[in-house]
Amino acid sequence: MYNVAIDGPAGAGKSTIAKKIAKQLGFIYVDTGAMYRAMALACIRNNVDKDDEEAVVAVCSQINVTIAYESDMQIVMLNGENVNGYIRTEEVGNTASAISVYKDVRLKLLELQRNLAKENNVIMDGRDIGTYVLPDAFVKIYLTASSRTRAERRSLELKEKGIEVNIEEVEKDIIDRDYRDMHREIAPLSQAEDAVLVDSSNMGIDEVVEHIIKIIEDRK
Ligand code: C5P
Repeated sequence: MYNVAIDGPAGAGKSTIAKKIAKQLGFIYVDTGAMYRAMALACIRNNVDKDDEEAVVAVCSQINVTIAYESDMQIVMLNGENVNGYIRTEEVGNTASAISVYKDVRLKLLELQRNLAKENNVIMDGRDIGTYVLPDAFVKIYLTASSRTRAERRSLELKEKGIEVNIEEVEKDIIDRDYRDMHREIAPLSQAEDAVLVDSSNMGIDEVVEHIIKIIEDRK
Protein backbone atom coordinates (compact mmCIF):
# COMPACT_ATOMS: atom_id res chain seq x y z
CA MET A 1 0.00 0.00 0.00
CA TYR A 2 1.09 3.57 -0.66
CA ASN A 3 0.59 5.64 2.47
CA VAL A 4 1.21 9.37 2.49
CA ALA A 5 1.35 11.19 5.82
CA ILE A 6 0.67 14.93 6.01
CA ASP A 7 1.27 16.55 9.37
CA GLY A 8 1.40 20.14 10.41
CA PRO A 9 -0.15 22.80 12.63
CA ALA A 10 -3.75 24.01 12.62
CA GLY A 11 -4.80 25.91 9.52
CA ALA A 12 -1.81 24.99 7.35
CA GLY A 13 -4.21 23.74 4.66
CA LYS A 14 -3.63 20.03 5.24
CA SER A 15 -7.17 18.90 4.58
CA THR A 16 -7.76 21.07 1.50
CA ILE A 17 -4.47 19.92 -0.02
CA ALA A 18 -4.82 16.27 1.00
CA LYS A 19 -8.33 16.02 -0.45
CA LYS A 20 -7.13 17.29 -3.81
CA ILE A 21 -4.13 14.99 -3.88
CA ALA A 22 -6.30 12.01 -2.94
CA LYS A 23 -8.63 12.77 -5.82
CA GLN A 24 -5.83 13.11 -8.34
CA LEU A 25 -4.02 9.96 -7.23
CA GLY A 26 -7.11 7.86 -6.48
CA PHE A 27 -6.14 7.48 -2.83
CA ILE A 28 -8.48 7.55 0.15
CA TYR A 29 -8.29 10.74 2.18
CA VAL A 30 -8.29 10.19 5.93
CA ASP A 31 -8.84 13.24 8.14
CA THR A 32 -7.75 12.16 11.62
CA GLY A 33 -8.54 15.59 13.13
CA ALA A 34 -12.20 14.89 12.37
CA MET A 35 -12.00 11.76 14.52
CA TYR A 36 -10.65 13.78 17.47
CA ARG A 37 -13.34 16.36 16.82
CA ALA A 38 -16.04 13.66 17.01
CA MET A 39 -14.71 12.61 20.42
CA ALA A 40 -14.69 16.28 21.48
CA LEU A 41 -18.29 16.66 20.35
CA ALA A 42 -19.28 13.70 22.50
CA CYS A 43 -17.61 15.36 25.50
CA ILE A 44 -19.38 18.67 24.86
CA ARG A 45 -22.74 16.95 24.47
CA ASN A 46 -22.16 15.13 27.76
CA ASN A 47 -21.16 18.36 29.53
CA VAL A 48 -17.79 16.92 30.44
CA ASP A 49 -15.06 19.26 31.65
CA LYS A 50 -12.23 18.91 29.11
CA ASP A 51 -9.64 19.25 31.88
CA ASP A 52 -11.06 16.27 33.77
CA GLU A 53 -9.07 13.42 32.22
CA GLU A 54 -10.97 10.66 33.99
CA ALA A 55 -14.37 11.98 32.89
CA VAL A 56 -13.18 12.57 29.31
CA VAL A 57 -11.71 9.07 29.05
CA ALA A 58 -14.90 7.60 30.53
CA VAL A 59 -17.04 9.26 27.84
CA CYS A 60 -14.59 8.39 25.05
CA SER A 61 -14.39 4.75 26.09
CA GLN A 62 -18.15 4.39 25.70
CA ILE A 63 -18.52 5.91 22.27
CA ASN A 64 -17.96 4.48 18.86
CA VAL A 65 -16.17 6.58 16.24
CA THR A 66 -16.02 5.18 12.73
CA ILE A 67 -15.71 6.61 9.27
CA ALA A 68 -17.54 5.97 6.04
CA TYR A 69 -17.20 7.37 2.53
CA GLU A 70 -19.95 8.90 0.43
CA SER A 71 -18.94 10.08 -3.05
CA ASP A 72 -15.31 10.39 -1.95
CA MET A 73 -16.24 12.43 1.10
CA GLN A 74 -15.23 11.23 4.54
CA ILE A 75 -18.20 10.96 6.90
CA VAL A 76 -17.42 10.74 10.61
CA MET A 77 -19.90 8.67 12.52
CA LEU A 78 -20.39 9.06 16.25
CA ASN A 79 -22.36 6.09 17.55
CA GLY A 80 -23.72 5.64 14.04
CA GLU A 81 -24.74 9.31 13.61
CA ASN A 82 -23.19 11.40 10.81
CA VAL A 83 -21.67 14.31 12.76
CA ASN A 84 -19.86 16.09 9.90
CA GLY A 85 -22.18 19.06 10.29
CA TYR A 86 -21.31 19.61 13.95
CA ILE A 87 -17.55 19.26 14.22
CA ARG A 88 -16.19 22.30 12.37
CA THR A 89 -16.72 24.92 15.07
CA GLU A 90 -13.91 26.62 17.01
CA GLU A 91 -15.37 25.22 20.24
CA VAL A 92 -15.10 21.65 18.97
CA GLY A 93 -11.59 22.30 17.56
CA ASN A 94 -10.32 23.70 20.82
CA THR A 95 -11.91 20.89 22.83
CA ALA A 96 -10.36 18.35 20.44
CA SER A 97 -6.97 19.91 21.03
CA ALA A 98 -7.48 19.78 24.80
CA ILE A 99 -8.64 16.14 25.00
CA SER A 100 -6.15 14.81 22.46
CA VAL A 101 -3.41 15.14 25.10
CA TYR A 102 -4.86 12.13 26.94
CA LYS A 103 -3.23 8.80 26.16
CA ASP A 104 -6.42 6.73 26.21
CA VAL A 105 -8.14 9.13 23.84
CA ARG A 106 -5.29 8.73 21.35
CA LEU A 107 -5.07 4.96 21.70
CA LYS A 108 -8.75 4.65 20.93
CA LEU A 109 -8.20 6.14 17.45
CA LEU A 110 -4.81 4.61 16.69
CA GLU A 111 -6.09 1.19 15.60
CA LEU A 112 -8.80 2.66 13.39
CA GLN A 113 -6.21 4.85 11.66
CA ARG A 114 -3.67 2.06 11.20
CA ASN A 115 -6.28 -0.36 9.85
CA LEU A 116 -7.40 2.13 7.22
CA ALA A 117 -3.79 2.50 6.07
CA LYS A 118 -3.27 -1.26 6.01
CA GLU A 119 -6.19 -1.82 3.67
CA ASN A 120 -6.04 1.21 1.38
CA ASN A 121 -3.73 3.63 -0.37
CA VAL A 122 -4.29 6.57 1.93
CA ILE A 123 -3.30 10.14 2.31
CA MET A 124 -3.76 10.73 6.01
CA ASP A 125 -3.56 14.12 7.66
CA GLY A 126 -3.05 14.93 11.32
CA ARG A 127 -0.37 15.83 13.83
CA ASP A 128 1.37 12.52 14.55
CA ILE A 129 0.89 10.49 11.38
CA GLY A 130 4.51 10.47 10.18
CA THR A 131 5.99 10.25 13.66
CA TYR A 132 3.67 7.79 15.36
CA VAL A 133 0.65 6.40 13.49
CA LEU A 134 2.41 5.46 10.23
CA PRO A 135 6.16 5.58 10.91
CA ASP A 136 6.79 3.62 7.69
CA ALA A 137 4.70 5.85 5.44
CA PHE A 138 5.92 5.95 1.85
CA VAL A 139 6.05 9.74 1.80
CA LYS A 140 5.86 12.13 4.74
CA ILE A 141 5.08 15.80 4.38
CA TYR A 142 5.26 18.45 7.08
CA LEU A 143 3.01 21.24 5.85
CA THR A 144 3.19 24.56 7.61
CA ALA A 145 2.67 28.31 7.16
CA SER A 146 3.16 31.36 9.40
CA SER A 147 0.59 31.77 12.19
CA ARG A 148 -0.59 35.04 10.61
CA THR A 149 -1.19 33.39 7.23
CA ARG A 150 -3.04 30.53 8.90
CA ALA A 151 -5.18 32.96 10.91
CA GLU A 152 -6.02 34.88 7.73
CA ARG A 153 -7.08 31.68 5.97
CA ARG A 154 -9.19 30.52 8.94
CA SER A 155 -10.87 33.92 9.24
CA LEU A 156 -11.73 33.92 5.55
CA GLU A 157 -13.16 30.42 5.82
CA LEU A 158 -15.33 31.46 8.77
CA LYS A 159 -16.38 34.68 7.02
CA GLU A 160 -17.56 32.64 4.05
CA LYS A 161 -19.78 30.73 6.47
CA GLY A 162 -21.19 34.05 7.69
CA ILE A 163 -19.23 34.04 10.96
CA GLU A 164 -17.49 37.34 11.75
CA VAL A 165 -14.27 36.90 13.70
CA ASN A 166 -11.45 38.99 15.08
CA ILE A 167 -8.22 37.97 13.35
CA GLU A 168 -6.10 38.67 16.44
CA GLU A 169 -8.24 36.22 18.42
CA VAL A 170 -8.09 33.59 15.68
CA GLU A 171 -4.29 33.92 15.59
CA LYS A 172 -4.07 33.66 19.36
CA ASP A 173 -6.22 30.51 19.28
CA ILE A 174 -3.94 29.05 16.60
CA ILE A 175 -0.78 29.83 18.58
CA ASP A 176 -2.29 28.31 21.76
CA ARG A 177 -3.35 25.21 19.89
CA ASP A 178 0.09 24.83 18.24
CA TYR A 179 1.70 25.10 21.65
CA ARG A 180 -0.53 22.41 23.17
CA ASP A 181 -0.12 20.11 20.16
CA MET A 182 3.68 20.50 20.14
CA HIS A 183 4.24 20.17 23.86
CA ARG A 184 1.99 17.33 24.89
CA GLU A 185 3.65 14.25 26.29
CA ILE A 186 2.19 11.68 23.92
CA ALA A 187 2.72 11.88 20.17
CA PRO A 188 3.32 15.64 20.03
CA LEU A 189 3.27 17.49 16.73
CA SER A 190 6.75 17.52 15.25
CA GLN A 191 8.36 17.09 11.88
CA ALA A 192 9.44 13.49 11.35
CA GLU A 193 13.14 13.16 10.54
CA ASP A 194 12.34 11.81 7.09
CA ALA A 195 9.50 14.25 6.34
CA VAL A 196 9.74 16.86 3.59
CA LEU A 197 9.05 20.38 4.87
CA VAL A 198 6.60 22.40 2.77
CA ASP A 199 5.97 26.00 3.84
CA SER A 200 2.82 27.20 2.10
CA SER A 201 2.91 30.80 3.40
CA ASN A 202 3.56 32.16 -0.07
CA MET A 203 2.09 29.37 -2.17
CA GLY A 204 -1.36 28.93 -3.68
CA ILE A 205 -3.36 25.73 -3.14
CA ASP A 206 -2.73 24.27 -6.59
CA GLU A 207 0.97 25.06 -6.34
CA VAL A 208 1.22 23.11 -3.07
CA VAL A 209 -0.78 20.21 -4.54
CA GLU A 210 1.49 19.99 -7.59
CA HIS A 211 4.61 20.26 -5.46
CA ILE A 212 3.55 17.38 -3.18
CA ILE A 213 2.35 15.19 -6.06
CA LYS A 214 5.78 15.62 -7.64
CA ILE A 215 7.43 14.51 -4.40
CA ILE A 216 5.21 11.40 -4.37
CA GLU A 217 5.72 10.59 -8.06
CA ASP A 218 9.49 11.07 -7.80
CA ARG A 219 9.61 8.54 -5.02
CA LYS A 220 7.68 5.82 -6.88
O1 C5P B 1 -6.81 19.09 12.26
P1 C5P B 1 -7.92 19.56 13.17
O2 C5P B 1 -7.89 21.02 13.46
O3 C5P B 1 -9.26 19.08 12.73
O4 C5P B 1 -7.62 18.80 14.57
C1 C5P B 1 -8.25 19.16 15.76
C2 C5P B 1 -7.33 18.81 16.93
O5 C5P B 1 -7.22 17.40 17.05
C3 C5P B 1 -5.89 19.31 16.80
O6 C5P B 1 -5.68 20.61 17.30
C4 C5P B 1 -5.09 18.29 17.58
O7 C5P B 1 -4.99 18.66 18.93
C5 C5P B 1 -5.93 17.04 17.49
N1 C5P B 1 -5.31 16.07 16.59
C6 C5P B 1 -4.32 15.27 17.07
N2 C5P B 1 -3.75 14.31 16.29
C7 C5P B 1 -4.15 14.15 15.02
C8 C5P B 1 -5.15 14.99 14.48
C9 C5P B 1 -5.71 15.97 15.28
O8 C5P B 1 -3.93 15.39 18.23
N3 C5P B 1 -3.60 13.17 14.29
